[in-house]
Formats: sequence, C-alpha cells, structure tokens
Amino acid sequence: MKINLRNFPSEGRHYEGEDPVDVLDVADPGFRFETPVSYKLNATLTGHSLVALGRIWTKVGVACARCLKNADRKVEVTDFVAHQEVTPTQDFADLTDNLREDILLALPQNPLCNPGCKGLCPVCGQDLNEKTCSCAKRAVVPDGFRGGGTGTPWSALDQIKIVRK
Ligand SMILES: [Zn+2]
Ligand SMILES: [Zn+2]
Repeated sequence: MKINLRNFPSEGRHYEGEDPVDVLDVADPGFRFETPVSYKLNATLTGHSLVALGRIWTKVGVACARCLKNADRKVEVTDFVAHQEVTPTQDFADLTDNLREDILLALPQNPLCNPGCKGLCPVCGQDLNEKTCSCAKRAVVPDGFRGGGTGTPWSALDQIKIVRK
C-alpha cells in the first residue's frame, strides 16, 4: 500500500481499499493466502513523520490443529499503527512491509476448524467429528506396543523369538 506524499492535506487523509494477496509474500506451508489484504486507515503527515492508524484484515486458509481439515480464518488487526520518517523529496511512502508484518503477527497459532473440534482418533485416525470409532472403548495403546515391562514401543520387540534353522 502506497501513500502519495505530494500535496498531502494538513488534516490528513483517509484510505480504504485492498492490496493484492501477493504483497504478503509468505511461504508458510501451514497457511494458504488467497484473499487480498483490506485496509481502512487514516494517515497524517507532521513534519517528516507519517503516521497511519486504522484496521487491516484478510482471510487465511489454515489446517485445523486437531483434525487437519482446511478452514478459513479471518485475520484482523484492529489497532494497526504504521510510522515512517519521510524526506521532503519523497513522493510516496510504502506501507506494504507494515501490512505484512502485522498480518503475520496476527496469524492464529493453533487454528481450529471450530472451537469444539474433536480431532482425530490417535489409534485409527477416524475424524471424530464425523463419527466415533470403537478404539476409545478398548485400550488406547495399540496391540503391538503392549508387551514387555518397560513400556517403550521397543519392548514388544523383546518378545519376538528368533528361531534359527
Ligand atoms: Zn478440526
Ligand atoms: Zn479409532
């Protein structure tokens, strides 16, 4: 997002619009960025100091931390503040970096498809939002991991007898 500094009005200027999603320029496999970044900002120029205040938002595709399903999440910064020093000969101020950084900081850490997501069964992988499986009724530990006394997955291997011919 660029702000034209020529003939900037002393009372400031209001900006409303959106930047294409590629300004985010993020290569994070955990998120899909497909929605433009919208902004509603008030910018003021005092001396060499440009300040923009307002709200920015977009939508990101996330994989649910429990069931891995794709979901869209609104990412919003309601107290966006950008401050830049500008020179008297400068024609534009570019706020793209400020937009990107604030959106990245606002990304959800453990996104869920919905707050009550039941996740996947750790044994059979069944999506427990769709139907329940019978694993919970049996022991949670898979059969192969049960033998031996040390309780590690490798203890089952101790019980295998190798027969030499
Ligand atoms: Zn989920
Ligand atoms: Zn199961």
